[in-house]
Amino acid sequence: MNYYSLNKETPAVSFKDAVINGIAPDKGLYFPERITPLPDSFFEDIEKMSHLEIAFEAIRQFVSDTIPDTVLKDILEDVLDFDFPVVPIEENIATLELFHGPTMAFKDVGARFMARCLGHFSQGEPSEITVLVATSGDTGGAVANGFLGIVGVKVVILYPSGKVSDIQERQLTTLGQNITALEVEGTFDDCQKMVKSAFLDAALLEKMQLTSANSINVARWLPQLFYFLFAYKAVKSRGQEVVFSIPSGNFGNICAGMVAQRLGMPVKHFVAATNVNDTVPEFMRSGAYRPKPSTATISNAMDVGDPSNFVRIRHLYGDDLEVLKENLSSFSFTDDETREAILNIHKNSGYVADPHGAVGYLGLKRYVEKHPNSYGIFLETAHPVKFLEVVEDTIEQSLEIPPQIQKVMDREKKSIRITDYSELKNYLLNDQ
Ligand SMILES: *Cc1c(COP(=O)(O)O)cnc(C)c1O
Repeated sequence: MNYYSLNKETPAVSFKDAVINGIAPDKGLYFPERITPLPDSFFEDIEKMSHLEIAFEAIRQFVSDTIPDTVLKDILEDVLDFDFPVVPIEENIATLELFHGPTMAFKDVGARFMARCLGHFSQGEPSEITVLVATSGDTGGAVANGFLGIVGVKVVILYPSGKVSDIQERQLTTLGQNITALEVEGTFDDCQKMVKSAFLDAALLEKMQLTSANSINVARWLPQLFYFLFAYKAVKSRGQEVVFSIPSGNFGNICAGMVAQRLGMPVKHFVAATNVNDTVPEFMRSGAYRPKPSTATISNAMDVGDPSNFVRIRHLYGDDLEVLKENLSSFSFTDDETREAILNIHKNSGYVADPHGAVGYLGLKRYVEKHPNSYGIFLETAHPVKFLEVVEDTIEQSLEIPPQIQKVMDREKKSIRITDYSELKNYLLNDQ
């Protein structure tokens, strides 16, 4: 099974090449040529299957023969060594907690899966592969942790100096080994521009094998479909129709949920919940896709004005807005509404939500008001301690720091300061 570019101007490639390239040469996102539904028995028997068995059966067709089954099983065993609990909050509303991994954000699964696939593929490559990634916060930590110690792969992370939280900075600057953090005097947009310049620099690309680790990479995007299957397994016995609400930024996670649905998983509806960066809710209302500069919010991992994966969602629905609307609703919420939701959830159920999960909760509530009787699950994409100040100020209680986070707080930060592209290029060319 191959992957074609959504720009359709370059030939289809294998999973291996799609992972190594990241993006197609015509700048299109890769998309699987086929999504073959799993047999009915898979969903009938899902409660008897382990997470590992579910993940293996679901991802196998997307990897096809580029990774042997035994290696794929080992990779999945490594990637999925933590829990994904569904926690009831109110009647007919639960949260799917995706933050029990090493960096306590849901990006851990995608980053670890991609790292191990790339590690496997690099074995046949003559030279080392360099992963270059810009981060506004959570991606950097998950990528650093996921790729740590992977032989044949070097990781260079650019982050804006003084603009990520203390916890986030430590998660990406304290690991060492094959991970280097470049601290950029500038904004996240400056970091991203430098990364883009590198990918367009023919002289650089001639000298090194460069790839990116953001959510457009199929190896980061597709494994997120596991979450939805795990949640379905957990609530199937209730016999209710399931609605998923996904706090969305680049729309990779929700798009993976829609792939799980194409695999045959019963879902009544999807809700894409955003903060005030409302390009998609506006599109669902007006039919006009108008990207805009991003606005900073308290749910900062979703501060995206031009969500890169939305083109995959439109493609899945044949670019037909009416068909898409039958399966997807999208709502946006302000920071004030988000804080109020954190407070209300805590008051009513004792549960502590992070700002991203709270946006997901709000989206779910908006939908179920008009569609009662279904079972609603919102995704909790980060642990509340990652947004310590906002959450503690809102619920007026202090949170306990989990051991994964405490561990990095005690380590020493190491970064290299750079200011412009020539310094980045210099570093990449001379540190091989
Ligand atoms: C990245 C991220 C999101 C957004 O996920 P997308 O797949 O980009 O839509 C939501 N919440 C948290 C905590 C994140 O780190």
